[in-house]
Amino acid sequence: MSAKYLQRGLARFINHLFAPGVCLACGSEISNANSLCPDCSARLQRVPNPCQYCGQPNPVSGLVCPACLLNPPRWQKMIAPLQYRGLARRYLLQLKFSEAHYLAKTLCDQCLAPFQANSPQPQVLIPVPLHRTRLLERGYNQAREIAVTFSRAFGIPVDRNALTRLRATPGQSGLSAAQRASNVRHAFAYAPKREYRHIALVDDIVTTGSTVSEITRTLHRAGVEYVEVWALARVYRR
Ligand SMILES: [Zn+2]
Ligand SMILES: [Zn+2]
Repeated sequence: MSAKYLQRGLARFINHLFAPGVCLACGSEISNANSLCPDCSARLQRVPNPCQYCGQPNPVSGLVCPACLLNPPRWQKMIAPLQYRGLARRYLLQLKFSEAHYLAKTLCDQCLAPFQANSPQPQVLIPVPLHRTRLLERGYNQAREIAVTFSRAFGIPVDRNALTRLRATPGQSGLSAAQRASNVRHAFAYAPKREYRHIALVDDIVTTGSTVSEITRTLHRAGVEYVEVWALARVYRR
């Protein structure tokens, strides 16, 4: 991501603080507090006809795509409305690396409907944790920011302590699916203060799903029956 985007993003954020009726992306005036005008909102591309298991476009009608019918993922449902490209990708990078916390709410506000329509709702939202050292380096966990926004929107509590990352796993980018899976193997511990049967794991982006798959394995072993994955964006299968 170029410095130019960051500067522009920062300038718009500052404008936004003083003029809350301004679109964060293009600066045009807006009447609602959504932070994006309808044109810019439309530039956030949604996943068309998403499969309820893998969150990727389902080429046939029905809830589950042919790939998941053959080989279902470990988790029971995934909601990840945005395509990881264009404006959504740029904002998610800023949210992750540029302390643009305010973008968590902007992006969540843009895609509340599929989470709202979900039924039954999970008992608790659990953000995908960062390792302590990474949390100290970065100062915040973007998954936690997103979970807090969803919690306010839907009245579902967030549990920040039930799940911890035991190892500071190296970054997943540039690794194959098999390397990603072994990278995160046994990297998480689940020790809730109370018992949950139905959990939504919250993250910013799902790429291959190796991290959420490993966490789901850990949760199922601890007796959690139903695991949903809630993310803002989905990277398509290559
Ligand atoms: Zn706009
Ligand atoms: Zn699928």
